[in-house]
Amino acid sequence: MFQEIPKSVDIEYDPMPAKDTDSVLCFDGRSVLVRIDENKAVLPKYSELDKKAETVFMFKADGKRFFLCLEKTSAQGFDFEPLNTIRYVEADTEQYAIVTGYHYDCFHKENKFCGKCGAKLEHAAEKRCMVCSGCGGEVYPKIAPAVILGIIDEENDSILLTQYADREYKKFALVAGFIEMGESAEMTAKREAMEETGLEITDIEYFDTQPWGFAQNFLVGYFAKVKGSREIKMDTQELAKALWVKREDVPAQLGGISLTSEMMWAFKSSQR
Ligand SMILES: [Zn+2]
Repeated sequence: MFQEIPKSVDIEYDPMPAKDTDSVLCFDGRSVLVRIDENKAVLPKYSELDKKAETVFMFKADGKRFFLCLEKTSAQGFDFEPLNTIRYVEADTEQYAIVTGYHYDCFHKENKFCGKCGAKLEHAAEKRCMVCSGCGGEVYPKIAPAVILGIIDEENDSILLTQYADREYKKFALVAGFIEMGESAEMTAKREAMEETGLEITDIEYFDTQPWGFAQNFLVGYFAKVKGSREIKMDTQELAKALWVKREDVPAQLGGISLTSEMMWAFKSSQR
């Protein structure tokens, strides 16, 4: 998974300003300023930006410092590429930085003013949060937890795969949904299985987690067994397809960047 690609990530906030050799992430909506070199994403260095733009520290990964650019700018030899393109470049530290940087960029763009008193928010000097210039309230990056669920039919050696109805992402996925207020992740798993496919599940077993900056998510993966009828009653609002797929037919390979692909591979390769 893509968060395992950097050998080291140091998320601790460093208030030192950007230096010329630091990598910079500039976003324009869901596009990032980047150069694609032999299927690798290359980020501009601070010195390569066309202006000395305002930046804020993101994190260190593999000894490199990454900064978020707070103003739209350009750099010679770099273009704005959609995040959907970045999803399919070679998995490396830059790709991880872009996906996580997008999460941080959303935080900045969505938090300009205080929700309590309406005064302007400013970035805190010593930590990763916004502080209200009026009431002193603090706002931290939003991270929305969601569950990914691999439902297994042991009798028929199959797993339930889905395809979203209304998203750009058209490959096979697993049942998934946001954790609602008052729910444990296991409660979400049961509710989503019922809502999306009409299936009851049992033996819910934790698999792994993943930060997923594309949608400001934190994903928790579980496997579970279908209980009772395996007849699918698909939620047609959310899904275009929901079907049982035999172990050998699961379209997965080793080394996917997402928790979903990792889970599909775990089933296909009989780790589950
Ligand atoms: Zn305020």
